[in-house]
Amino acid sequence: MQVRIDLEKCCMSGECYYNHPELFAMGDEGASVVKPVDLDTDEMRRHAVQAAEVCPAGAIFVDEGV
Ligand code: SF4
Repeated sequence: MQVRIDLEKCCMSGECYYNHPELFAMGDEGASVVKPVDLDTDEMRRHAVQAAEVCPAGAIFVDEGV
């Protein structure tokens, strides 16, 4: 699985890293970054999909096929 943040879209709301600190962190100027964690677990897949669904900017992209 790959998780990508589109920094052009990210509006720095912080929802991803407040709700899923195991997966996301606050990067430069409040934008989100994906932490270097093992993404290939059921738990991380679930959290990534949840974060993508609620991101107000639609800036989180989850590719489960990788
Ligand atoms: S929830 Fe979306 S808009 Fe908010 S910080 Fe995360 S990626 Fe950016």
